[in-house]
Amino acid sequence: MKLTKQTWQPATEKIYDTIVIGGGAGGLSAGIYLQRYLLDTLIIDKGKARSFWMSELHNYLGLPPDTPGRSVLRQGKEHFLSLGGDLLDAYVEEVIDEGETFAIRVKIGRNNSQYHTFRAKYLIAASGIIDYLPELENMRNVYEYAGYNLHVCLICDGYEMADKKVGVFANSAGNAEVVFPLGWFTSNITLFTQGLFEVPDDLRSRLEAQGYQIEATSIEQFIGEDHQMTGVELTDGRIVKLDTGLISMGSKYHATYLDKFELEKQGGNLVTDKMARTSHPRIFAIGDLKVGLNQVVVAAADGALAATQIWRDIRRSTFSKTVVQQARD
Ligand SMILES: Cc1cc2nc3c(=O)[nH]c(=O)nc-3n(C[C@H](O)[C@H](O)[C@H](O)COP(=O)(O)OP(=O)(O)OC[C@H]3O[C@@H](n4cnc5c(N)ncnc54)[C@H](O)[C@@H]3O)c2cc1C
Repeated sequence: MKLTKQTWQPATEKIYDTIVIGGGAGGLSAGIYLQRYLLDTLIIDKGKARSFWMSELHNYLGLPPDTPGRSVLRQGKEHFLSLGGDLLDAYVEEVIDEGETFAIRVKIGRNNSQYHTFRAKYLIAASGIIDYLPELENMRNVYEYAGYNLHVCLICDGYEMADKKVGVFANSAGNAEVVFPLGWFTSNITLFTQGLFEVPDDLRSRLEAQGYQIEATSIEQFIGEDHQMTGVELTDGRIVKLDTGLISMGSKYHATYLDKFELEKQGGNLVTDKMARTSHPRIFAIGDLKVGLNQVVVAAADGALAATQIWRDIRRSTFSKTVVQQARD
C-alpha cells in the first residue's frame, strides 16, 4: 500500500521484516523479491532516483534501448505494490540500532513536515548517489542537456559517443583520467578543466601523446537545442563546437543516516560480501552505494541477492527458535 499522511500510523506500530531505504532500481528489485519471499517490506523513497535522470536505458536485456528510466521506476513501483509491499514517500534522517530491530526516523513532506519512526529487523541501504554537475550561474542550462547527450556515465554511454567530438568536463586530475577509457570509443576529445585544477605534467604529456585537447577557460554556458548540446560558450566569448559531452566530477553518496555505524567503506562506497551484506550483519547495501559497477542491471541483481540472504537469515532463525521451543515443550 502507498502510505500517506493519513495512513502511516498502523505502519509505525508494527515491525517490518525489512525496510529498504531508496526506491530506485536496486530498492524496487529488493522489494519485489522480499514480498515474493512473503516478507513484510517497507520501501522509503524520497524520489528522483538516478534512474529518473536517465532519459533512455540503453543496455538492459529485454527492454527497448529507448526505455526511459522513469518508466522503469513507475513499473517497478506498481509491481512492488501489487505484491502487497508498503511504499512511503519520505526522507530517512536517522537509523538507530535497537539490538533486534532498527528504528528508522523519517521526515514526511517538505512543508509542514511530520516526523515518524518505523521499525524493521533488517535494513537495505539502496539510496544511491547523485552526480556532481558543472556549477554554472544558470543551472537550468546544465539540466537542459545533462542526461541527454551530456552524459555522466562512460559505461552506460561510451557507445553513444563513438567517433564523436566529445567534451569531457572534470573537476580534478583524478576525475580527468576518464578520458583514457573514453579513448576506446573516440579519439576526438577535449578536456575542459574550467580552471578548477592544474593539469599535472604527467597527465598533460599523456593527454598530448593521445592528441587530446585541453581547455582551461571557464564555461559561460552550454549551447544547443531540444536537449541536444552542440558545444560550449566560454567566458572569454569563444565557442567550442562539440557533438556530445561527458561529465566526470564525482558523486555525492546518499547515506549520511548510516554514518554512526562506521561500516567498512572503499572511498565513499560501502563494502559488502557477495550477498550484499555490509560489515553490520543486519545491514545490506545495494546498487550505486556499494562497491561495484553503477548500472541498473547490477542494482537489480544486488536487490535479488540481499533479499535472498535476508530470507535465508529469517528462515533459519525462525527454524532454530521453533526447534528450541519444541525441545522445551
Ligand atoms: C543520466 C544517467 C544515465 C544513466 N544511464 C544508464 C544506462 O543507460 N544504463 C545503466 O545500466 N545505468 C545507467 N545509469 C546508472 C543508473 O541510473 C544507476 O546505476 C542506477 O539507477 C542505480 O540504482 P540505485 O537503486 O542504486 O540508485 P537510485 O536509482 O539512484 O535510487 C536511489 C533512491 O534512493 C533515494 N534516497 C536517497 N537518499 C534517501 C534518503 N535519505 N531517504 C529516502 N530515500 C533516499 C533517492 O532519492 C533515489 O530515489 C545512468 C545514470 C544517470 C544519472
